[in-house]
Amino acid sequence: MRADSGKVTQIFREMADLLAIKGENPFRVRAYEKAADVLEHLSGDLQDLHNEGKLEKIPGLGKGMCEKISTLLNTGRLPAYEELKKEIPAGVRELLLIPEVGPKTAKLLYEEAKVKSIEDLEKCVKSHKLQHLPGMGTKTEENILRGIRFYRTSRARILLGKALPLVEEVIGELKEKASSWIERISPAGSLRRGRETIGDIDILVSSSSSHPLMEAFTSLSCVREVLAKGETKSSILTHQGLQMDLRVVSPDSFGAALQYFTGSKAHNISLRERAIRRGLKINEYGVFTQDGEEIGGRDEEEVYACLDLPFIPPELREDRGEVDAAREGRLPQLIREEEIKGDLHLHTRASDGSASIEELMEKAQEKRYQYLAITEHSVSLKVGGGLSEEALLAEVKEIRQMNSHFEDFRVLTGTEVDIKKDGTLDYSDEVLRELDIVVAALHTGFKQDREIITTKVIKAMQNPFVRVLAHPTGRLLGERDPYAIDLDKVLEVAKEKDIWLEINAQPERLDLTDIWIREAKRRGVKMVIATDAHNIKGLDLISFGVITARRGWLESADVINTLSLKDLLKVLFKKRS
Ligand SMILES: [Zn+2]
Ligand SMILES: [Zn+2]
Repeated sequence: MRADSGKVTQIFREMADLLAIKGENPFRVRAYEKAADVLEHLSGDLQDLHNEGKLEKIPGLGKGMCEKISTLLNTGRLPAYEELKKEIPAGVRELLLIPEVGPKTAKLLYEEAKVKSIEDLEKCVKSHKLQHLPGMGTKTEENILRGIRFYRTSRARILLGKALPLVEEVIGELKEKASSWIERISPAGSLRRGRETIGDIDILVSSSSSHPLMEAFTSLSCVREVLAKGETKSSILTHQGLQMDLRVVSPDSFGAALQYFTGSKAHNISLRERAIRRGLKINEYGVFTQDGEEIGGRDEEEVYACLDLPFIPPELREDRGEVDAAREGRLPQLIREEEIKGDLHLHTRASDGSASIEELMEKAQEKRYQYLAITEHSVSLKVGGGLSEEALLAEVKEIRQMNSHFEDFRVLTGTEVDIKKDGTLDYSDEVLRELDIVVAALHTGFKQDREIITTKVIKAMQNPFVRVLAHPTGRLLGERDPYAIDLDKVLEVAKEKDIWLEINAQPERLDLTDIWIREAKRRGVKMVIATDAHNIKGLDLISFGVITARRGWLESADVINTLSLKDLLKVLFKKRS
């Protein structure tokens, strides 16, 4: 097993929890948590650092932790961890996920009431078996029950940004372990449709022999628990608490199965109705005539063709008119990641980012971009390392000098300027005038009412220098609801003033959402797909923005940063002249 930094981080977190449940010295517990925090924010590859003997140079890691990391990287195992796992069942650690249960309570529940899982806990609470435990009463029982409900509703889904890399890793590992048994392999379900959050993960393989695949799948390095192991389907629980299913199908029905398990349910129902009207039957094995003769199923294209439809991209399969559009030849030519020519929302270490302009540029050129916009936070946003007017103008000067050295690449000067309480902007017009692109954003006052928020955002959009409205609803998936804003009015003003709305590609933002993206397109509002990257890797998040744009039916013409540098400069300066 190759333990990467994610895996090490996770083991350290688990150790901290387990030690806390055991009632160990809090300093020891904290040491693991701290090490996990350090690794989580590590720039550079842990394996490389280890190979070069530089682990101890990582700030914040003590000698003892470095030794543990070495052991993990060298052997893929950590004896202390394995001991702990033997001592405390996995389910007990899971109790900590419930808001009302801390390590002390978990220990008490396990030792005194033999509670080994959330299910156990629920049963005990409901039969009032916990009331006699020290420090517990009816009130605690109510709280725990509420905690369990909260856990169940919030836990169920993870971000696309977490799920997609995990699935890529799993598919890679399966190919490594059982490549000769894999004919075709693909994720299905909501992940393949690119939904912003994912419940369970489905993976589909076509193979003539399932046994070696199931062996490989149930022994993946991400497995916490094997839930089921069968001939055609196995299920595992990953360390992140995510359920993953692997289905093995015959090569002849791979397309039908992929179509079926990709969903959505609503999309499949409308296909089924269409099939019935044509006297056909469609299911996960294929498309059949009434006599039971199979007429398609090997590829998805074939399945759709049997219904006289062109292939419908997975991102559109939400029963939002895609079947009618397909029938009438009106499906959009969805935007592709290769069409993106630059990134228009980036932070460097001058504000709260960690990379230099040069480093971002190097990465951008790797991605064959033609431009980047540096958009640091503005002066009022202290937590974001906002730049004073002087600092911003100094950066502008530096960028202009850099630009004089290249011909076919350009770093655009810009800002992510705060919209202030009264709807004015955080820099004067004299400063904004100096910039190539002004991105306006709201970062405070999220609790205000709809009228107030909408009014100030719309006022900011009237400023002649503003071109982009960043993350228009401010939501953070699983953390913060969108603020109350009248997007309908915002779109109206965006159209009138030629303001571009951002599709922020950060996986916890993905803001605008697919439905509003489509509405913006319908109204003729242009959009920008931007990463809001704070480090080099962040530029790769663009793919999540593109997936979301595709879910909103966007084509390249709807997205400003598919323009070439030359065309972009034209539209940027048209508004001002
Ligand atoms: Zn922002
Ligand atoms: Zn930003």
